[in-house]
Amino acid sequence: MELLKQKILREGKVLPGNVLKVDSFLNHQIDPELMQCIGEEFAGRFADLGVTKILTLESSGIAPSIMTGLKLGVPVVFSRKRKSLTLIDHLYSAKVYSYTKNETSEISASKDYITRDDVVLIIDDFLANGQAVQGLLNIVEQAGASLAGVGIVIEKGFQDGGRLIRERGIHMESLAAIASLTDGKVTFKEEQ
Ligand code: 5GP
Repeated sequence: MELLKQKILREGKVLPGNVLKVDSFLNHQIDPELMQCIGEEFAGRFADLGVTKILTLESSGIAPSIMTGLKLGVPVVFSRKRKSLTLIDHLYSAKVYSYTKNETSEISASKDYITRDDVVLIIDDFLANGQAVQGLLNIVEQAGASLAGVGIVIEKGFQDGGRLIRERGIHMESLAAIASLTDGKVTFKEEQ
């Protein structure tokens, strides 16, 4: 998605450890117009699959998911990373290991909002090693729901997550796929 790539080139900052900082439009401050375009793009790429629900992870997955849900006309469920006072039982939960933080956390979502009748589209902001998406896939499996696919805003294509998910035969779309962050420079993969 050209608009997103230009935004990454203009505003993204490469941090040590191959981390891309995009706090100015996705991870802290949010650009609503760009999110709207992202929502339209995901909605187009996952059209006609009978999606009934979007599943994401708080907090940075919420903005692109809301815009996609608006366009597809379906609700958005965000998994929580921390236990909530009002979300105590009747939960699906999955462990997610974060390489960047070197810690395992438990994500959870209420059984009320994802059921075996749902066709779920998973959306997240970044894909690196794929642990966050694997946790969300695990929740979809626990629910006995069908999977429409996985939509990622920024895929770090030099890490393993994308390959592992595609190898499972899952329909995955990323809007900007990064080939490298070497020497502080963002290089994108060629579009296929
Ligand atoms: P994974 O579970 O695929 O290894 O990592 C995905 C999660 O880690 C994303 O939800 C995102 O929060 C975070 N993440 C991984 N790499 C980056 C990065 O380069 N920049 C930012 N901003 N977040 C990242």
